[in-house]
Parts: sequence; C-alpha cells; structure tokens
Amino acid sequence: MKYLFGPVNSRRLGVSLGVDILPMKTCTLDCIYCECGRNSQVNLEAKEYVPADDVIKEISAYLDKNSNPDFITFSGGGEPTLNSGIGKIIDFIKNYNPKQKVAIITNGTLLGNPEIRARILRADIIMPSLDAVSPKIFEKINRPAEGLSPEKIINGIALLKKEAKGEVWVEVFILPDINDTLEELGLIREALLKISPDRVQLNTLDRPALAKTLRSISMGELSKIKEFMEPLYTEVIASPKMVNMKSMSPACGNILQILSRRPSTLEDLKALFPSNESVLKRYLQELENSDKIVRKLEKRGEFYKLK
Ligand code: SF4
Repeated sequence: MKYLFGPVNSRRLGVSLGVDILPMKTCTLDCIYCECGRNSQVNLEAKEYVPADDVIKEISAYLDKNSNPDFITFSGGGEPTLNSGIGKIIDFIKNYNPKQKVAIITNGTLLGNPEIRARILRADIIMPSLDAVSPKIFEKINRPAEGLSPEKIINGIALLKKEAKGEVWVEVFILPDINDTLEELGLIREALLKISPDRVQLNTLDRPALAKTLRSISMGELSKIKEFMEPLYTEVIASPKMVNMKSMSPACGNILQILSRRPSTLEDLKALFPSNESVLKRYLQELENSDKIVRKLEKRGEFYKLK
C-alpha cells in the first residue's frame, strides 16, 4: 500500500485506516512539536500533490477485500487539505459506502478558503488544531508560512463549524511555559467559545525523545485546564503511556522514535509494523533522502540509525 497505512487502533477514532495524500512534511506550518522533524519549506500552495485517482484505486481495492474500518482518516506527515484532490477522494468513499465514516486531521490553516472548506464538508469528523491566539506564541509554536495568522485560522474554523455536516473537534496542544499561561489559555478559551466546536481535545507531548528541548505537561495540569475550559465540552486525549508498538503506524515520527532508542534492521522494523511494509519502506526512503537517518552495515545486517 502506497497511500494507506494501518488500520491502527487510534485513541480517538477506534479502528482507523490512515490515508496519507502528501509527500512527507508538506505543510503550511513547521510546529516545534512535529514528529517529522523540521520543515524548511512551509507552503500554502494547494495542488494535487499525489493523484487522487491513484489514492482512490488503493482505497477501493482495500475496501473490496477487507472489513470496513471505523474511520478512514486523512492524516500523515503533512497538511491533508493542501492536496486539492481531497474532495474527490472523500466523495468516492461516501459514494462507495455512505455509511463509511471519514475523519480529517488538519492544522486548520487553510479553512478560511471557501473552496477548501467545500471539499471536506462531507467528512464525519474534522479535527483542526488551535495552539495559540497571540501572534507571538503562534509564531513560536507553529512557525507558519507567511500570511497566516491566528485570527484567520479562528475565523476559518468558525466558518467550517457552521457549514460542516459532521462534527468539529478542536485539538489544543499544550506546551508548558509556552501556551499554558492564564492569559493565553483565556484567549484560547475565548476563541473556542466563538467557534463552538463539538469537542475540545487537550493534548501534549508523549514522545519526549523527539523534541529534547520541549517537555510535556502533567496529567494533573491538563485536568485543571480542562476545568478552565468549561462550559466547552473538553477531554484530555494525551496518554501518559506509550502507545502499543504493534498498533502503531509507521509514520515518520514513530520510526524516528524507535531509531532514537536503538538502530534497527528492516526486519526489526517490519516486526513492529507488520501490516505496513510498503509504507514503511517509503518512509525510510524519505527519511534517508531528508538526511535524518543513515544505513550502516553491521554483523547482523544493514542497520538504520539516526544521522
Ligand atoms: S501541522 Fe502537523 S504536520 Fe504540520 S508541522 Fe505541525 S505537527 Fe507537523
């Protein structure tokens, strides 16, 4: 499978078949907590980065042979709404099986554009992010492409909430000493009250090895923030435990996380991601091309390790 990964047991969506419709780290932001490392080329150009027809063929072949996942989820190592073919792919899924649920994990930056909103309105759950309202903190956390602002993002998400047929769940990623001050949380709450999402989800780092200068916030602090967000329906989705390796997708962050602990052969990695060999190989190739990992021949075979 080139564009699909999983299905994985997702914390938020149950059994979720992932769809990745972008080359790795094609994004409008360069978040400091991103699992995929630095993105030096933030980009606002929406185009068909990978052909929608190829993705549709793969989804169709999967659904013909397998039981339906709870969700087909657009996610991966970039911003899925940057692919202008996303609407065509969602339409295919919904026409193929109107009961098949579709979710989109988006950073919300392009939702001010009515054409882009129109492409994703048939999704059952759209999950945009909002990490900051103050321009300074937004710049610090999200390192956006030129021309983006928190105000535009908030307005875009609010419009989406009015137009969407399904639910809108807004994720707030909390980073201690950056966006957890009373002042910033107050601004985020105010913006969320304006958006009126179906849910607010609080998240924090659960892979400290990937971002050595950042730390996660405690579960106790997250619970206090949850109370602070009332009357908004808010849940804490961060997990104090690591996810079960067997259920992980071979997303670039997961591969880097494993390699940061121990160099591994392709066979070692295949044992961790048993159902995703072709996607695993694609990510390894992309990580090599972007100089994040190298191969080294050792006694037991060829090892992948961090550069
Ligand atoms: S929006 Fe997602 S993919 Fe893009 S930089 Fe931020 S965390 Fe990474």
